[in-house]
Amino acid sequence: MDFESIDKNRYERQMKLPFIEKDGQKVISKLRFLIFGAGALGCSCAEYLTRAGVQFLRLVDKDVVEWSNLQRQHLFSEEDAKNATPKAIAAKNRLEKINRHVQIEAKVLFVDASNIESLLDGVDAVIDATDRLQERFLLNDVAVKHKLPWIYTAIQRGTSVWLPLTSTDTGPCLRCAFPEKPENEALNGGIWGPAVSMSAGMQVSQMIRFFIDGQIKTKSSVLSRMDLWDNHLIQIPIEKDPHCPCCVHRNFEFLEPSK
Ligand SMILES: [Zn+2]
Repeated sequence: MDFESIDKNRYERQMKLPFIEKDGQKVISKLRFLIFGAGALGCSCAEYLTRAGVQFLRLVDKDVVEWSNLQRQHLFSEEDAKNATPKAIAAKNRLEKINRHVQIEAKVLFVDASNIESLLDGVDAVIDATDRLQERFLLNDVAVKHKLPWIYTAIQRGTSVWLPLTSTDTGPCLRCAFPEKPENEALNGGIWGPAVSMSAGMQVSQMIRFFIDGQIKTKSSVLSRMDLWDNHLIQIPIEKDPHCPCCVHRNFEFLEPSK
């Protein structure tokens, strides 16, 4: 929807922020995102972006809503779990009730090397809402190849983790920080719900800031780990690896069909 014809009352308090104002809201109203995963992070990021007034979200997830999701996946109801509704569909249904002006596209799909590039059609950036590091290696390859900004964002028990990767021409990519992908990832550990909100809030804030302020030229980025239970923040600078196979040599091995 054109910015001049939207309901300004809805965004009044957001536009009073000196770092948003009317010009920032105009930028937000044109933003289009792929959300890679509609679990805990996907739900929270999608809700923040929908309420902020972006133009379009493409939600992609292969799973259905389960009872064990309800503790931390904000868009889902007991009804969704009872009916085993696909997460992308349940999220779209809820988001359309929150803000009818945002276009929501739901895809019930397993994302892999064969289809991830087609999912980028018409989007400005990718929201990291996966729960596997190996899927993030795929996302890293495609983001570097197509120069798409993204922010590595994770929840590890009660700890929120984030690393902006918005300038990989000059700064690091995910493989500069984690050269090897893990062979066996355990996905059945505990997750503290408020850590999801912290990660999602940081990802959405930094992503929208990237588009409002323009690309930041940097040779390093900062990996942050906030333990919400112990109230403890660690920040580690991540330098660009001059031998990185992905962002330096542009060898996108996770986009090859066998990976
Ligand atoms: Zn790299």
